[in-house]
Amino acid sequence: MATLVTGGAGYIGSHTAKELTRRGREVVVLDNLCTGHRDFLKWGVFEEGDLADSAFIDRVFEEHGIDEVVHFASFIAVGESVQKPDIYYRNNVTNTLNLLDGMVRHGVERIVFSSSAAVYGEPQAERLAEDHPLNPLSPYAWSKRMMEQVLADYGTAFGLRSVSLRYFNAAGADLDAEVGERHQPETHLIPLILAAAAGRRPSIKVFGTDYPTPDGTCLRDYIHVADLADAHVRALDHLASGEATDVFNLGNGNGFSVREIIDVARDVTGLDVPVEDAPRRAGDSPALVSASDKAMRVLGWEPRFGDVREVVSSAWNWHQKDWQ
Ligand code: UDP
Repeated sequence: MATLVTGGAGYIGSHTAKELTRRGREVVVLDNLCTGHRDFLKWGVFEEGDLADSAFIDRVFEEHGIDEVVHFASFIAVGESVQKPDIYYRNNVTNTLNLLDGMVRHGVERIVFSSSAAVYGEPQAERLAEDHPLNPLSPYAWSKRMMEQVLADYGTAFGLRSVSLRYFNAAGADLDAEVGERHQPETHLIPLILAAAAGRRPSIKVFGTDYPTPDGTCLRDYIHVADLADAHVRALDHLASGEATDVFNLGNGNGFSVREIIDVARDVTGLDVPVEDAPRRAGDSPALVSASDKAMRVLGWEPRFGDVREVVSSAWNWHQKDWQ
């Protein structure tokens, strides 16, 4: 009996591998290391390979007695997906289909899937619940929306049960700073702000200052990666207890503007953050703020890091160690 974690050398995947191990599960990490990091492989057994390779998938399922899957492996940059839809659909859709087909071949019935709040697109409410209309604005968001549909259809046809977790903005780092956020190139707001604070980048560019939000910059809901890791374990337990396919939002329920996050970073680091206003980034929604009541009610999940300062400060702690 083992839990397969695809993308377990990545940001959320490595934190989840740690939490799964801590809670007594046998973990097998599958990663092609195209964006993952070898030094994040601290928990479980590692299988290096690609989800495009069905024979490799078959071998991993056979050798390790996999009975459940958490699927993180995917490309994640909204802006890049607009420029390169081909590689986004191939990796996030085609390769995920390979994984699901492997599960069907090996009788593995349970999967937790990394979806995204990006599936909602333009918000039609202040806080978005799971029944908010889905209007993806980028190939990245479409790839997540498509896979949610595929999972529903594989459920009907093949009995595969899934939980899709729609993350809002994953942020922060492991409190022990054993793993954290490291993307090459980095595109995410908090690591870029902290790099600007540390003088490792000249400034932080604010993408869009004319959005219909209080200060004109985008609002996002920053959820600590350790809270996300906890939700994945709960989602696996939920499926293991026989529950049906479902979708859950994971966020804190508070929106912070880009400028507010810059102010928080100034506060946490005690350093200046040079700011440059810049045009909007293609594919960005003006505001994505969650209503996560369903995950709280059904999974018994509750974010432990409700204060955005704690989120930014755990990231600062990690980056200072990682940059050494
Ligand atoms: N953002 C920004 N400057 C940057 C990177 C991001 O202004 O250098 C903004 C981006 O437009 C979005 C928010 O910060 O409104 C969060 O972006 P991120 O890429 O971190 O996550 P996403 O919302 O795309 O998942």
